[in-house]
Amino acid sequence: MKTKLGPNSELLDDLLFEASEATEQPLAPKGGIPKQWVPFWLRLPAKCLALPFVLIDYSMQKVAKKIIRPPFKREGECKRRGNCCHYVLIAYSNKLLGRFFYFWYTQFLGFYKRLPEPQIYEGKKMHVMGCRHLKKDGSCGDYRLRPLICRQWPMIEYFGYPKILKGCGYRSNPPYPADSIDDLSESGDPRLKVLQ
Ligand code: SF4
Repeated sequence: MKTKLGPNSELLDDLLFEASEATEQPLAPKGGIPKQWVPFWLRLPAKCLALPFVLIDYSMQKVAKKIIRPPFKREGECKRRGNCCHYVLIAYSNKLLGRFFYFWYTQFLGFYKRLPEPQIYEGKKMHVMGCRHLKKDGSCGDYRLRPLICRQWPMIEYFGYPKILKGCGYRSNPPYPADSIDDLSESGDPRLKVLQ
């Protein structure tokens, strides 16, 4: 049975549920995956330039979590299903900065719109994206240059509950939302990568 996680649009709730259960990738959007018009020779150096900042950010977060431990601990290991890459959410914004990030995520990082219209996730408007780097076997085709969110996933934060996709191989300790890991896999808590 599906659990309602919050004020999500119905379509997105269905996708969340599918993402946790899927054994293969969702179909490409109507008209196919759009081409990136920023050429590879420009994308690659731009991502290489951004990499040190991504690594510093990631390392600082790890150090901070060692000093002040979050209430949940991540356990288990990635099963390399690739399901957490099926639907990645990007915050919808009409502001200049929001448009710039959308441009960066789509033209440089390789995300593309899966749905033409934004959907509501936890009360916020989000673009639902797929990723060009996800390979058929569930592995990442851009592993060394992958964005911060993909390194952090599944996310354990100081506030709120862990975001773990059902069946991905990870679990939180203590388990959320149920009291036992068995209950957790039954009810599930399928969350998605969110790029704010
Ligand atoms: S960059 Fe790699 S890890 Fe991140 S969403 Fe794409 S395929 Fe998945």
